[in-house]
Amino acid sequence: MALSLTNTLTGEREPFEPQDPDSVLLYFCGLTVNDDAHLGHARAWVHVDVMHRWLEHVGYSVRHVENFTDVNEKIVARAGTADLGDAESAVALHYISSVIEDMRSLNLKRADVYPRVSEHVPEIIDLIEAVLEGEHAYESDGSVYFDVDSFPDYGSLSGQDLDEMESQGPEDERAEKRNPQDFALWKAGPVEEEAIAQHRDADPEHVEPGGQTWDSPWGEGRPGWHIECSAMSMAHLDESIDLHVGGQDLVFPHHENEIAQSEAATGEQFAKYWLHVNLLETEGEKMSTSLQNFFTVKNAIDEVGPNPVRMFLLSAQYRQSQTYSQRTIDEAIERWDRLERGYDRAVEAADSPDAYTKETAHALRQTIEEQIDAFRAAMNDDFNTREALSALFELVGAVNEHIDGRDRYDYEGLREAIETFETFGNGVMGFTFADRSPDGSVGLAEELVAELLEVREREREAGNYETADGIRERIAELGVEVQDTDDGPEFRF
Ligand SMILES: [Zn+2]
Repeated sequence: MALSLTNTLTGEREPFEPQDPDSVLLYFCGLTVNDDAHLGHARAWVHVDVMHRWLEHVGYSVRHVENFTDVNEKIVARAGTADLGDAESAVALHYISSVIEDMRSLNLKRADVYPRVSEHVPEIIDLIEAVLEGEHAYESDGSVYFDVDSFPDYGSLSGQDLDEMESQGPEDERAEKRNPQDFALWKAGPVEEEAIAQHRDADPEHVEPGGQTWDSPWGEGRPGWHIECSAMSMAHLDESIDLHVGGQDLVFPHHENEIAQSEAATGEQFAKYWLHVNLLETEGEKMSTSLQNFFTVKNAIDEVGPNPVRMFLLSAQYRQSQTYSQRTIDEAIERWDRLERGYDRAVEAADSPDAYTKETAHALRQTIEEQIDAFRAAMNDDFNTREALSALFELVGAVNEHIDGRDRYDYEGLREAIETFETFGNGVMGFTFADRSPDGSVGLAEELVAELLEVREREREAGNYETADGIRERIAELGVEVQDTDDGPEFRF
């Protein structure tokens, strides 16, 4: 079964056919860097990561571009607060670094490019000029607005008629626009007091206008929000790409506007497939920074580790709704444990003298074959990670049954099981099974920690309590739990 996707643009399930049969151009609408990432962001990240991994697994080369929005009034509103620095760019850099750290700790594959808006203002200006040339936009008081009336397909992604559509942009912009639904491609001047005050929850009288500005053919100003993704997608991929992925909340107006301005400028289809990752809900409410149910990626990783976080986020297919709660997280911890134990048991059994070359366990081998097919079918079925995980758990069940039920193991069967766990669990789902072999990294780390703890013991015995405590604190900072018992210190990662 070949890969098929639900395309938001058509509302239909479609076979996946990229422009070039061997490679895929993928753009993911990244974060506005005004705060730390939360689990809602991580949901989209982890799913686009698994899409990328699966596309590579089935043989495509993938060019993956993911932007950082580092020019935005929400970032300007954070300037001067919480020691973040007074400049928009300083706040953005702080959070870009934090977000990259989160991405690495979630084991996300690196994108080919992480373009930033502030680096692409010339491309943005060129694109706005192309839209103006085609008479799909107009200048008004130093700002440029897209004329939605000039683009007959406007509203097709979000399935809305123009006359029923809500207006865009702030109230005071209305006087400059032909249509309330027109949106800004370029905004004159810096960010105004009202916008900053609104994001800061402050009185506009105490706020100064702020944010970076750039020269343009229309005067000093800032790019509108939507135009950046069109410009960066074209700069680093092509005028027409295969896959555009983003959160469900971006369908309107962001993606609707991206399509309108891009296609108005080039006359080409901007993206063939639009995939939207549903939001993460907490007790029925959308999880976002503005609601007080903020749960950062850093908190989640500190508390439960990256594998259970991935297990949680992949437990629902990307289009399904998903609820964050203590119960669903506990379930994910338990499921990751079960998967990792299954893998460990298979490795231990295959490496034991009880594994025999001429032993053949038909049940084990048949289950492996069936579950490889089931995993593939699930991933090709619109990236159904929930069903794909079920296939891995069927495999865990078969491994456990094999090991519990006999004292002579089927070496070849176990080896196939291990490879399946590694190919799909590791390679596609992005989990990290610890290498517990004697020369593996966990083995080495264990020896090093044991060595350090012995140094601490000697320092303590010599009365150097400060040094001893310092060593223990440092080990704890590295994420190793140390417990002093009657038999000396014990630790776990
Ligand atoms: Zn975007």
